[in-house]
Amino acid sequence: MPENEFQVTIDSISEQIVRNLLHSIIQDIVSRETVRQRQLHDRYPDFKPYYYDPDGILDINGLPKQQESSQYFLCQNCKREISANRFAAHLQRCLNRGPRR
Ligand SMILES: [Zn+2]
Repeated sequence: MPENEFQVTIDSISEQIVRNLLHSIIQDIVSRETVRQRQLHDRYPDFKPYYYDPDGILDINGLPKQQESSQYFLCQNCKREISANRFAAHLQRCLNRGPRR
């Protein structure tokens, strides 16, 4: 057998199987995703994709993010307005001491 002729080995066959498998999986994902995108587009023709800011300064609408401290949530336990960036800590303390007047 000439030296440069392709030799079928367990390695070469396994590699081929893995490649075929990956190829079908990728094709499957791409075709499913294409169908999904088409359906979404048909259902929401005016849909505007979310804005992506790699620096994380702008939100999904392309607008400057709101400071969390400027948003308030009502604590259902004590009925007080709590700043969003302190809400989790507040809730933990508030629920531990029970309802209060
Ligand atoms: Zn509370």
